[in-house]
Amino acid sequence: MRKKSEPIRTCLGCGNRFSKQILVRICYRDGQIVPDEKKVMEGRGAYVCLSAECFKRLKKNKRIFRALRIKGEFGLEALDLFFEEKLNNRSL
Ligand SMILES: [Zn+2]
Repeated sequence: MRKKSEPIRTCLGCGNRFSKQILVRICYRDGQIVPDEKKVMEGRGAYVCLSAECFKRLKKNKRIFRALRIKGEFGLEALDLFFEEKLNNRSL
């Protein structure tokens, strides 16, 4: 029997490939870019490492908008909050 291979995705921050499981999925919903923590939202998803550095790069290089096929730029406030919370909790 063949072993089921793990889905691999590319981080939009560092450009490295990782198992989908450890990356944060990001979706576009109702005019906002939001984290899809449970990875259940419909539509296109983009992925990024749960790291301050990758998130910073993602914001800077704006690949997120292309990855999600969005025209124009939308607020990343929800993502900002998400990362802040996650990274703060982790460093406790
Ligand atoms: Zn990364």
